[in-house]
Amino acid sequence: MQNISHTPLNADLHSHSIFSDGTLTPEQLAERAKKNGVQVWALTDHDEISGQIRAIDAALSKGLQYLTGVEISVTFAQETVHIVGLGFDHLNSDILNGLEKTRSGRDLRAQEMSDSLAAVGIKGAYQGALQYVGNPRLISRTHFARFLVETKVCSDTHEVFRRFLTEGKPGYVPHRWASLGEAVNWINNAGGIAVIAHPGRYKFTANEEFALFSEFKTHGGQGVEVVTGSHTINQYDKYAELALEFDLVASRGSDFHGPGESRLDLGDLPPLPKSLTPVWQALEHKVMQP
Ligand code: AMP
Ligand code: MN
Ligand code: MN
Ligand code: MN
Repeated sequence: MQNISHTPLNADLHSHSIFSDGTLTPEQLAERAKKNGVQVWALTDHDEISGQIRAIDAALSKGLQYLTGVEISVTFAQETVHIVGLGFDHLNSDILNGLEKTRSGRDLRAQEMSDSLAAVGIKGAYQGALQYVGNPRLISRTHFARFLVETKVCSDTHEVFRRFLTEGKPGYVPHRWASLGEAVNWINNAGGIAVIAHPGRYKFTANEEFALFSEFKTHGGQGVEVVTGSHTINQYDKYAELALEFDLVASRGSDFHGPGESRLDLGDLPPLPKSLTPVWQALEHKVMQP
């Protein structure tokens, strides 16, 4: 075990709203974060930063400190990897254009997912998933999962991702997202810090994981999520060690998608191991104050 002790700030720097695949608005998230004792919050919608203005307003008016955020889908070694960006200029045209390009393939992919589900007898999944989409530019597997649960094909989203929508299963459509270098550059050029999201979730060999961390560093990446809703306690330790080995700052975030949808609620996480430098410290001058 690492020496885990009290950290002065309750930071939750990973969450989703209706601007991607969450079920709450930025205002509802800010209110819930405040109620749960969060002090620094970041909304990190998938490939989308148009919710940032509402998140900033909601956070500051409720007395929360705020860091701008995004979670960018990247293809690395044939796998999808997520890179969280924090503390960047949300009006920067490079990141806005890059994200727009990344999002552009989602609708066609969704129609192909629907065709693949139809081939195993599940009809109307595209229209069905669209019912749950808050942002027409961001249809995701989560919206299909909600449709499959609602229509009782599966009893919960866990079962959906076990039986459908993942590699080798009906409804899975391989997709090429941004490259690792592109994502890191968009974030860095907009003045932010790039963070490898939930590294424990990827199905990489040790060599591939080492390559991810090394190449991320080479591209100018500076952070890694250590304490996240996706990690076990053992993974907190493992990624704390990797953060030190690769000289990365550490992040902490629930990956909250909505009540009943996520393992952890906003702010409801152990503190970062004390040996690590928190990303919000490295971004001190970027933290917006209420
Ligand atoms: P997409 O960006 O369309 O590929 O959708 C990815 C999203 O699906 C993730 O951000 C999660 O919200 C959700 N997801 C992926 N895998 C799982 C899983 N095994 N269980 C629950 N949700 C998942
Ligand atoms: Mn998601
Ligand atoms: Mn993710
Ligand atoms: Mn996420």
